[in-house]
Amino acid sequence: MSQRLSGWGRFPVVDCTERASEDLVASCRGAVLTRGLGRSYGDASLPAHAGDVVAGTRFGNRILAFDAATGVLRAEAGLSLSEMDAVSRPRGWVSPVCPGTSYVTLGGMVASDVHGKNHHVKGTFGEHVRALLVMTADGRLLEISREVEGELFAATLGGMGLTGHLVEVEVQLHRVEAPWIHTEEEIATDLADLVVRLRKASREWPYTVAWVDSLMRGRAMGRGVVMKGRWAGADEAPDELPRPLKRIPMPLDLPGWVLGPWSVKAFDAVFYKAHEWRPKHGIVHPDTFFYPLDSILDWNRMYGRRGFIQHQCVLPVDDGEQVVHRFFDTLTSSGSASFLTVLKDCGPEGTGMISFPRPGLSVALDIPMRGAETQALVDALNRHVLEAGGRIYLAKDALTRPEDFAAMDPRIDAWNAVRRRWDPEGRLKSALSVRLLGDEA
Ligand SMILES: Cc1cc2nc3c(=O)[nH]c(=O)nc-3n(C[C@H](O)[C@H](O)[C@H](O)COP(=O)(O)OP(=O)(O)OC[C@H]3O[C@@H](n4cnc5c(N)ncnc54)[C@H](O)[C@@H]3O)c2cc1C
Repeated sequence: MSQRLSGWGRFPVVDCTERASEDLVASCRGAVLTRGLGRSYGDASLPAHAGDVVAGTRFGNRILAFDAATGVLRAEAGLSLSEMDAVSRPRGWVSPVCPGTSYVTLGGMVASDVHGKNHHVKGTFGEHVRALLVMTADGRLLEISREVEGELFAATLGGMGLTGHLVEVEVQLHRVEAPWIHTEEEIATDLADLVVRLRKASREWPYTVAWVDSLMRGRAMGRGVVMKGRWAGADEAPDELPRPLKRIPMPLDLPGWVLGPWSVKAFDAVFYKAHEWRPKHGIVHPDTFFYPLDSILDWNRMYGRRGFIQHQCVLPVDDGEQVVHRFFDTLTSSGSASFLTVLKDCGPEGTGMISFPRPGLSVALDIPMRGAETQALVDALNRHVLEAGGRIYLAKDALTRPEDFAAMDPRIDAWNAVRRRWDPEGRLKSALSVRLLGDEA
């Protein structure tokens, strides 16, 4: 039966069939793509064609093995991070890398090779993956790792589901003394101050991220809050385990105009002042620290039916701050506003052949979708990215043009060559691969 599917940004929308069952192998056979919980923002988890079949993994979520002595966990690819946290945290093990939401699957985490607030010390999720059971385009099931079919393994970490269907994932978890986070915050009065503080924090703390007031003009442009964290020691954490937090549903689609420059400006001012008055300092629930947006279910409905896009790029270290200035100028002069603007420090590249992070400053902007206006804004932002020698994150993209992407990421040719060795007929494809990578529709 045909359904209307989209990514988290609700743009674009494709009519297609999502085949989801507990039998992942059966679901994946003959599908053009696999999809987890649809938390990538743009068209990465969508097929190019109305009528195509996508394999949904959410019912294939069994934990197959977990060794509480070594922290090695093997599970079906549809296990979500929140489900994994619930099992591993009480046993003293945590995910080595946490993206900004726990509603992602292990398969999605591998395919996007996700990064977290600790990229500067732990790299991407893929760095902690020991082995994968993958169904290749011709229907074969292969166990792959760094040692066995290493090239396919490297192409699959961050390969956006285009090298094979992930059926099982084996990952090394990270040992902690207590499943609580000690956090501290610092206020930064402008962008230069923010970047200096973020970089210093990243030398001293395993988890760092900065929230930025992207609409502030003048001397306070780029003011924000630097958030730092580490796992708490046994002596400072509460004795009890963190309880599941309350989730509030977003009951309806807000009208599109609600998130405009004035409301965002007001929100940013309140958020900044609240943190200036009372910066957080102390022990917090790990979900509050890692996944603050998960507290409102379906928060993407705030953007209304037209949806929104996220533009996330990473800019090489030297030029990062100047480019971010240009970003904010371009954003404000376009009349648009980013409800959530986040900066992160990225560390070295890892194993994934086309994984997103590289050393530098990552910038993420959430922008309401307004058709041609938003396309023009993304084109303008991408010009800044290109000039700086940076690149965009495929898991967030919906509007980048193929020529811009090719110029940003020359690694794509070598990756495509590996892909073609395993899928000469081009059976695996997505709306993203047709839009950006030259796959036939
Ligand atoms: C609020 C929010 C915060 C986020 N924060 C971060 C962050 O901090 N860092 C970060 O890196 N990302 C972040 N993301 C993006 C998210 O982590 C990734 O897009 C992730 O891949 C989504 O997982 P999913 O299971 O929903 O996959 P989907 O969105 O369903 O799919 C994403 C990609 O993975 C492929 N895929 C999924 N499952 C499989 C499988 N079993 N086999 C093969 N391919 C598969 C799909 O084809 C698609 O290309 C965030 C997203 C949201 C909504």
